[in-house]
Amino acid sequence: MTETTVPPHLRYDEIRRAACADLEAFDKLTPDRAAELQLGRLRESVAHALTASPHYRRNWAAHSGTRFDTLDDIRKLPFTTKGDLRDAYPFGLVAADRREIIRYGESTGTTGRPTSAVITYEDWIRGNVAVERSVSHVFGPGDLVFIAIPYELAFASYDLDRALEQAGAGVVAVGTLSRVCPFERMVEMMWTVKPTGLVCTPSRALRLYDLLKDSGRDPLEVGLRTFMYVGETCSPAKLSKIADLWGVRLSNAYGSTETNSLGLTCAEGSLHLTEDRHLFEVIDPETTEPVADGHPGELVLTSLVSRAMPLLRYRTGDFVTVRSAPCACGSPRRTLDHHGRVSEQLVVDGRRINKLALEDIVLSTPGSGLYWAAGVTGAGLEIRVEADGGDPARLCSDVAERVAAAIGITPVVEPIDRTLVRRAMDRMLKPGSLTLEDLAAVAS
Ligand SMILES: [Zn+2]
Repeated sequence: MTETTVPPHLRYDEIRRAACADLEAFDKLTPDRAAELQLGRLRESVAHALTASPHYRRNWAAHSGTRFDTLDDIRKLPFTTKGDLRDAYPFGLVAADRREIIRYGESTGTTGRPTSAVITYEDWIRGNVAVERSVSHVFGPGDLVFIAIPYELAFASYDLDRALEQAGAGVVAVGTLSRVCPFERMVEMMWTVKPTGLVCTPSRALRLYDLLKDSGRDPLEVGLRTFMYVGETCSPAKLSKIADLWGVRLSNAYGSTETNSLGLTCAEGSLHLTEDRHLFEVIDPETTEPVADGHPGELVLTSLVSRAMPLLRYRTGDFVTVRSAPCACGSPRRTLDHHGRVSEQLVVDGRRINKLALEDIVLSTPGSGLYWAAGVTGAGLEIRVEADGGDPARLCSDVAERVAAAIGITPVVEPIDRTLVRRAMDRMLKPGSLTLEDLAAVAS
């Protein structure tokens, strides 16, 4: 066999070396040079999508002559939506030969019909290498890391497994959805196995803390050192509670089912966008007009190197702020703050309230506990909050006052029933977005 006929899965070392070199070279570029490289990759990626992906070939034929002189020319193209992904299910967006596909996954389907994701071996390794470099800032030999995110149909958990192994850390694949390792068993294992790292949603980290504490054990004795939160956005107030309770340092990663990792943490702890592999825009979700760096909006991405499933101007539905201030790590890649899903905003009297901003106000109120929920009813904005041992009535009035002062809307605030919270959270895949409806559903 000549080198070119050797299939990718038999060329791991070579593909890995190329991916590492590419990543390192990108991080040494100036922002201008990085943009030039992105422009070249953009032209190739659009051409590939419009010829090889059935969805784009069929629906975007009118755009095949589009010229890209600058990155802003991306705006000449229409958007790809979640609805397009659902309509294209399962293979309508696949631009690679079936023989090149080495992994197939699907969304959890929590919000409507599922969407699919496929990847080639080279893209998979390229992603692995980026995650490996990021996790190696916080995990290494001697670490034993509990990965408590879904394994069924997922990419992210396996991506992390491989990255951690390559970084020299040990992996415990506890998952989240399996009957083999429910919460109770995971808590027992944390106590006996003593992991140094935990990867899960912030809400699960709180729930695990709760279960240990309730069984009369001190969670600090587990000896957890690092908590990597994924899969759910979280306010600074909630994160700081988690860090204090567990006595851990925090790390973060951001991604989606369709794309794998999109944001990875550097040695300085900033969450950098994967701009070597994606072109990112931020738009006003209502008008779709571009939003400048430093201002919040919806994240839109275009894949630059994905061979299996190129996505052009895909509206992620994630509400973010992208910042271009240089990071001390020297990378030209911009950084990201995630404010939750665009759809997760509460609308009160025509005003939009960001749920994470509200969470930050509620959970930073002195005397607040771990849990809260909010919703809009006939009475307006309603908040439920847990007291941390103090006077619940006092806490409720303090929360109402602080919310009114911050956003100009006076909410109805009542204590939350912790038993209901637990019952509701255990039924949810993403318990961070707990609503009044979720509580009502488990109350009867
Ligand atoms: Zn950095």
